[in-house]
Amino acid sequence: MGNSFEKFRKNDVYLIVILIVIGIAGLILMQAVKKQGGTVVVKVDGKVYKELKLSENQTVEIVNDKGNKNILEIKDGKVDMTYADCNNQVCVNHKKIMYNGETIICMPNDVIVEIHSDDDSNVDAVAR
Ligand SMILES: [Zn+2]
Repeated sequence: MGNSFEKFRKNDVYLIVILIVIGIAGLILMQAVKKQGGTVVVKVDGKVYKELKLSENQTVEIVNDKGNKNILEIKDGKVDMTYADCNNQVCVNHKKIMYNGETIICMPNDVIVEIHSDDDSNVDAVAR
């Protein structure tokens, strides 16, 4: 009798552990999907210049009205400014961005790179 009770408790613990593991896996998966679904919005002179998928590896050349050039690289869900002909190089020295709301700004060239995750599309009231 006491034996079967112990077995029951053991199975219970296994069940709880399995549920926790599934829960954590689900959270990680959701996070990954969220990251994949992001959009990289490039603005030049305050206007939307290009919209890119965060999930697609690509290198994009950005040229503003004055002919200034920036090169943006999207790789493995991370966005990096790899080149700019601006005088301060703040944007090139900026760390790679990957999360919703993060930005890389090149003030001299008037270039703004923003990450928008797909599930908060109603927050774009910031558009000027
Ligand atoms: Zn710059």
